[in-house]
Amino acid sequence: MKAFLHFSSFILLANFSFAATWHKGNTHVHTKLCGHADSTPEVVAQWYHDHGYNFLILSEHNKYIDPTTVKLSGEIRDDFLMIPGEEVTGPVHSTAMNVSRLVPWDFKDKNRTKVVQWQVEQTKKAGGITILNHPNAPIIRPAELYPVKDLYLFELYNAHPHTKNFGDAHRPSTSSLWNALLDKGMTIYGVASDDSHKFARWDEKYDNPGRGWVMVRSDELSSDAITLAMNKGEFYSSSGVILKKVIVGKNRIEVQVDEKETSRELASKFLFGRSVKKGKPGTFIEFIGPGGEVLETISGNEATRVTKEDYMRCMITHRVKKEDGSLREYYAWTQPVFTDGR
Ligand SMILES: [Zn+2]
Ligand SMILES: [Zn+2]
Repeated sequence: MKAFLHFSSFILLANFSFAATWHKGNTHVHTKLCGHADSTPEVVAQWYHDHGYNFLILSEHNKYIDPTTVKLSGEIRDDFLMIPGEEVTGPVHSTAMNVSRLVPWDFKDKNRTKVVQWQVEQTKKAGGITILNHPNAPIIRPAELYPVKDLYLFELYNAHPHTKNFGDAHRPSTSSLWNALLDKGMTIYGVASDDSHKFARWDEKYDNPGRGWVMVRSDELSSDAITLAMNKGEFYSSSGVILKKVIVGKNRIEVQVDEKETSRELASKFLFGRSVKKGKPGTFIEFIGPGGEVLETISGNEATRVTKEDYMRCMITHRVKKEDGSLREYYAWTQPVFTDGR
């Protein structure tokens, strides 16, 4: 009987992963209303609508844009949703996702643990959840985040060219920050977003859209359902790689790259990937455990790994040699599987 139960729960899990719908979304973008971006809320929302996104947050600096005031034109898809939000912009920036009103931002303190906690609380009071934004600009140390309660999301990959996701001589990568937080027992998930300000001029050096996004698994496309799914880690993040299968089970992760959809994403003229100096072109899948240790690397488009470690996450790299000889990397990141009861 026990074996039967295990077998049937596996089938349910597998069915769930294929049947539930994936929704492509961006949680972070700016408009003219902040004074340093170039397009109106209508133009920005229209761009995401026309490029196949399923949801968008117009996360303006300390301004609440009511989605019902933003009018789209042409034939409007019914699978496009605008989730209300704001970028709470104080000494630390965070996206207030799915809030019903303006969230205050004016609390200042040298202690940034207090600042983040205050933003989390204020966002909660307005009915939403917090995504901590671009933690490498300015740098937030792991120790400043350990004590924060009810923070489940942070930007692992912010596509703005100045946000130093991969670290530099002065700071470790956002991946290292994630490892440190997970090592300390936090339950926290990695988000990819655009943080774009420019829709009128296009170049690799500009903060244009279409370079970082999340794929959220939810049966329903509503603000509450998407927000809840993200806060529970029911999503993966991407800077170009699309997955056909993602199973984050009890003690294992199984992934399969969707080659066709990934090629379609990479054909975008807005997506440049990360420039790297060395490595062979191809796709490889890394399983990462405590201390940031790479537990296993598999070349190819699919992999499964069962773990005995406290947690494990998976990063998929697709490396391409361009016509000009340069090497570019595109990624997908799954959320961690936790086996230590958190
Ligand atoms: Zn910001
Ligand atoms: Zn921003």
